[in-house]
Amino acid sequence: MKTKKFCLSESQMPTQWYNIVADMPTKPLPPLNPATKQPVTKEQMSAIFAEELIDQEMSTERFIDIPEEVQEIYKIWRPTPLVRATGLEKALDTPAKIYFKNESVSPAGSHKPNTAVPQAYYNYKQGIKHLTTETGAGQWGASIAFAAKHFGIDLQVFMVKVSYDQKPYRRLMMNTWGAECVASPSTLTASGRAALERDPHCSGSLGLAISEAVEVALQHPGDTRYCLGSVLNHVLLHQTIIGQEAVLQMEMADAEPDMVIGCFGGGSNFAGISFPFLRKNFVEGKKIRMIAVEPESCPKLTRGQFQYDFGDVAGYTPLLPMYTLGHNFQPSDIHAGGLRYHGAGSIVSQLLKDGFIEAQSIPQNETLAAGILFARTEGIIPAPESTHAIAATIREALKAKEEGREKTILFNLSGNGVIDLYAYEQYLAGALKDYTPTDAEIAKTVNELEKLI
Ligand SMILES: *Cc1c(COP(=O)(O)O)cnc(C)c1O
Repeated sequence: MKTKKFCLSESQMPTQWYNIVADMPTKPLPPLNPATKQPVTKEQMSAIFAEELIDQEMSTERFIDIPEEVQEIYKIWRPTPLVRATGLEKALDTPAKIYFKNESVSPAGSHKPNTAVPQAYYNYKQGIKHLTTETGAGQWGASIAFAAKHFGIDLQVFMVKVSYDQKPYRRLMMNTWGAECVASPSTLTASGRAALERDPHCSGSLGLAISEAVEVALQHPGDTRYCLGSVLNHVLLHQTIIGQEAVLQMEMADAEPDMVIGCFGGGSNFAGISFPFLRKNFVEGKKIRMIAVEPESCPKLTRGQFQYDFGDVAGYTPLLPMYTLGHNFQPSDIHAGGLRYHGAGSIVSQLLKDGFIEAQSIPQNETLAAGILFARTEGIIPAPESTHAIAATIREALKAKEEGREKTILFNLSGNGVIDLYAYEQYLAGALKDYTPTDAEIAKTVNELEKLI
């Protein structure tokens, strides 16, 4: 019988994260201070982030040790299994071999605790007592709530209002782990109040929630810092534990991927699974394809522009070099809340610009259909975000069948969807709409960026 799962023992868990910047032929451009247009200094960033995280943000070291305290908490759910999707292969009647890395087994149900734990740890080590952050669908809020509690840190989460109202269960996870969760826009901050003045019924956005969370941190420099669940270099770094494990597990399976696929919001789970394999391309001359998959309704990689832009709506963050739709781009209300961000991390953006990775966009009805096929063949109900990686995998597996080629595909299952069943309800009722922004819509928010720099 074929082996279904490839599991590492705890003692085989990697003890270092991989920093791809060390191996990038063109290094990512630096973040800029919006006022001076000069690279931001560590001092400027230290009002917002813990010092050790800033060092990692700027590091060019190839490997960075995972602190023992972090490894200990990782072991609650890591190493995660690598699974051969035999049921899906059979349903597709494809000669392709499909493997997935199952990051849905963490306490929060996604890959996000991989970075939440070290972020909480480094803040704790610096004596920080309060953290602020934002969350969309609640995956990040729940993950950092779990992590902050481990180190006795208070957490305030600004949750995009539309999700706060529609998705009470992740909010309740945050509360269960002891965090405070506030609907954004709120009246607690100037940026929230300004948004409410413009539109009292404003349903919020990730960019706006970031503005609120950063504002609170800046007001309490003594003991409060902000943290972010995607996009930034240090977040991508922490997620490479996924791919570091997967490299070992693919060896156990005696297999080599022809392509590595991940869904794409700000880039963290895609980076996590793909960077250790991309290293093989850089160092060993392999030709593995790396495919980032985004929603057709929020297509920054496939239709955005490479440009300096803010990470948030109000403009509190440094200017980051990224593929972006413009920070004022308002994505349609798709269900993959974690993929609704306007921009992409600067490392991933540079890699795309230089042709080392590829991007695809897929409409949500196709992705949910893929999620349902996956649930019925592999058992796990995937997060709506993760269904983008599954849909791309299915496209590639069917292409392999057409061409009669035995491709090996590895994708990252970034999370499970048991708290996102509303998306499945809507899909099953035939009520989900696909949405493709027009060129004019994208041009409008992208053209505004020329004023920034
Ligand atoms: C947040 C999230 C994503 C998107 O974020 P990335 O930083 O691009 O990985 C994808 N999948 C799940 C399950 C998420 O929670």
